[in-house]
Amino acid sequence: MRAWGSAIYRRRIAPVLVCIGAVFVMSCAFAKNTMAYQNIVIAIDPGHGGDGTEGETDSGAIYNGVKEKEVDMITAQALYEELSQYGNLTVYLTRTEDVHTELKDRVDFAKSVGADYLISVHYNASKYHRFYGAEIFTSAFGEEYAKGVSLAQTIMSWWVDDGRVSKGIKTRIGKNGDYYGLIRMGREAGIPTIILEHAYLDNNTDFDVYGTPEVWKRLGQLDATAIADYFGVKKGVVQADVGGELTVAVPTGQVDDDTTPPTDVTVTIDAYNPNTRELSYTISAKEPDSMLMYYDLNTQELAADEEHAFMHMNVWKNGETSMKGTYTVPEGYQGAFVARVYNNYEKYTYTPPITVPADLPGASTLLLGGTQVQPTGVAQAEGDAESTGTETPTVTLQDGSGATWTLDEALKEAKGAEYVVDHDQVENKNYALMIVALSVIGLLVVVSIVLAIATHMRRKKGRRR
Ligand SMILES: [Zn+2]
Repeated sequence: MRAWGSAIYRRRIAPVLVCIGAVFVMSCAFAKNTMAYQNIVIAIDPGHGGDGTEGETDSGAIYNGVKEKEVDMITAQALYEELSQYGNLTVYLTRTEDVHTELKDRVDFAKSVGADYLISVHYNASKYHRFYGAEIFTSAFGEEYAKGVSLAQTIMSWWVDDGRVSKGIKTRIGKNGDYYGLIRMGREAGIPTIILEHAYLDNNTDFDVYGTPEVWKRLGQLDATAIADYFGVKKGVVQADVGGELTVAVPTGQVDDDTTPPTDVTVTIDAYNPNTRELSYTISAKEPDSMLMYYDLNTQELAADEEHAFMHMNVWKNGETSMKGTYTVPEGYQGAFVARVYNNYEKYTYTPPITVPADLPGASTLLLGGTQVQPTGVAQAEGDAESTGTETPTVTLQDGSGATWTLDEALKEAKGAEYVVDHDQVENKNYALMIVALSVIGLLVVVSIVLAIATHMRRKKGRRR
């Protein structure tokens, strides 16, 4: 019998064993964590409710003459009716009437029917009516997080296929753990609870598409299709067992929400056409904690008009580090021009402002009032803008972090490094990188030659012996 340390073992058997081991470990890691059920109980919770005759009035968001509680009910009823047609599912509604219902009573009801999941149906609104899109909230803790996120991911993918903008699947931390009472109490009862925010009732980007009773009903049916898809259940068919897969691990601590705004937010003007007053811009930003969500540009005096500034928010394309576009400067406008970038937790950061039109390419001709017009994108020599004697406005602005700074300071900052790309420096950096890379490759070649020679010498010695 050969010893374990023999050459054959080392050369032939060991690598094979290592490969088998690696494949085994990898297949374990990739094995899907599937939950098996014979029957899944789902409690559907139409948000809000109550007209004040019995208990409080709770209409939820009210906008465009629409009460959220009524929209929630239409969607929840449609979801209930559609989902009830699937096998291996038992579905309940936490309320069927327009009555005030405490969050605790909703959770107690879900618990009493043995609910495996509690799904709360809502529509959104925001203070300044800026936001649009759909979002889903889950618990930030334990199995309720993992189960909630896993189900929410399937629902969100159906929503996105339906044309909705995803604001993400999120947690929200409050003083006592989960911020939303329903999610917090649901978790205490051991029921994964998710809040579906289908669309914004107070924003026309959403309301124009998702603002009729027919659509509210359709969205409920779509939710049912998505939920059935997640659990692998079939309409009118009872299967031996069904179940959804956990797509995320059970967290050990809490999964934090993002409380900080995007960083490294800058805008550069790529070209300006004084005839059309159209400028081409590139906005860059970073968001290591969550995702970049919206951006907008504005020429208003922001601090004075928070309510009306930045109303036409563009969606930041998922995964991009910069966005390009055009903006038409209002005729005769002189003053600050800034962009604002949001993450999907509604935290934002302004770019350092640019003074329009003083800081634009071709500005000097414009400001001097000449009839000649600079060709698009031709930059003026530095200092031209100052020589015109344009006044620097002293507006106090606030960034997403709450810090305030004057436009004066910001302009000084803006004229610093962020706007000047020193091409020489960039090229030098590239050369430095190339030298480092070549050195490493050279070193590797030398080491392998030395090793080859050493092996050769050892073999020669062995043969002589
Ligand atoms: Zn609501």
